[in-house]
Amino acid sequence: MTVRTRFAPSPTGLLHIGNARAALFNYLYAKHHNGEFLLRIEDTDKERSTQQAVDVIFDGLEWMGITPDQPPVFQSTRIKRHQEVALYLLETGKAYKCFCTPEELAEMRAKAQTEGKPPRYNGYWRDRDPSEAPAGAPYTIRIKAPREGKTVIHDLVQGEVTVSNIELDDMIILRADGTPTYQHAVVCDDHDMEITHVMRGDDHLTNTFRQLMIYRAMGWEPPHFAHLPLIHGPDGAKLSKRHGASSVVEFRDEGFLPEALCNYLLRLGWGHGNDEVLSREEQIKLFDLDGVGRSPSRMDYTKLTHLNGVWMRQADDQRLTKEVVDRLSQRSDLNLDKEHQDRILHLMPGLKERAKTLVELADSAAFLCNSIPLQFTEKAQKLLNNDNIAMLKKLSSRLTELPDFTPKAINNLLHQFAESESLKLGKIAQPLRAAITGSTMSPGIDETAATLGKKEVLARLGAITHG
Ligand code: GLU
Repeated sequence: MTVRTRFAPSPTGLLHIGNARAALFNYLYAKHHNGEFLLRIEDTDKERSTQQAVDVIFDGLEWMGITPDQPPVFQSTRIKRHQEVALYLLETGKAYKCFCTPEELAEMRAKAQTEGKPPRYNGYWRDRDPSEAPAGAPYTIRIKAPREGKTVIHDLVQGEVTVSNIELDDMIILRADGTPTYQHAVVCDDHDMEITHVMRGDDHLTNTFRQLMIYRAMGWEPPHFAHLPLIHGPDGAKLSKRHGASSVVEFRDEGFLPEALCNYLLRLGWGHGNDEVLSREEQIKLFDLDGVGRSPSRMDYTKLTHLNGVWMRQADDQRLTKEVVDRLSQRSDLNLDKEHQDRILHLMPGLKERAKTLVELADSAAFLCNSIPLQFTEKAQKLLNNDNIAMLKKLSSRLTELPDFTPKAINNLLHQFAESESLKLGKIAQPLRAAITGSTMSPGIDETAATLGKKEVLARLGAITHG
């Protein structure tokens, strides 16, 4: 048997990270078992589905490196098939026409409620002859739910979960306008796509019991199910905007690398020893469902940020430079021509050591692209007092004489200068840093100055000492 999993999002909003994690698990599971991972866009709800949301799903998956093995299936293109299956169930007596009007259904629910019963359909048309209905009356098609016994799911994460069949009612599979219901469409599609394993949020567990009625009625072998615990916020409540970023786009905008987000999402609900940082190859090699826990995971933004820092330090400098340039090009006050981009690339090894997100990284690189006069942070401004300005003036003339402006040469000069001035190195390096970067934090001052180049360093110092 070829393992075949799928991700089946409804394109009605943003790609929530709970869903992104379901996509990742399905993908890794398929790859681990040399199977296939498919994508189905569940767009039958025309009112709520948008092209924009479809694009968000495609972009998000691509960004996360989750590539389906076949072109995506759009559920809305399969309505004829859904109708065909519903009519087959009708013909074979597994389903029936229900002519109840919305008013009658509302009355039925109200009555059940006053009797203290759950508001279920009471099977009014289950055994009635359709000829009793007024001629031409609209009807829905309902499946005949089992009336006794129980339904058991051997869930690969939750274990054995049982529901008593009297809990299930004769649910609608085809609406009066001929459109399939969600439960019906999912089953037809999963069957036709030959899905062997359905992994989705555990909020779908009750749907699974209902969907199994259709499998049974059609005589189809159901897939294996794995219901994944949801992701909660740090306070234990369902993850939402109020906790911070909750969709893939938001994490991307906040400067997280896809490797870090995927690595974090995987580790959040799945345990494998103490290995925190796992490459995609290792993830595929190691992932299986037995490591997935049953209880909800709590999102820990601090841990994710830390992990992102780890991934950033390993990331390629060219790639990070491109990310930084993309972000900085949103600003109108910076020069981003080739020379300035080269500066970013040159200093990247030092910059990436200090930043935990791409946003921080871009902020820390911006000084390389500023024009004179620089904007100074409050701390930098404080360092640029009269004494330090006088000191920087002297230093500037020493730097002017430096023949090669390499980190090593700059470092030697700073040491000599500190000695001749009887100052500690920090008393020189910090004001210099303030003067040429506008802040009090940057990679090593020697690398920083060398990256800016002699002309620029002298110009920046000149703006302060003569300004
Ligand atoms: N369209 C459903 C959702 O986005 C998918 C459920 C499933 O995976 O079966 O929640």
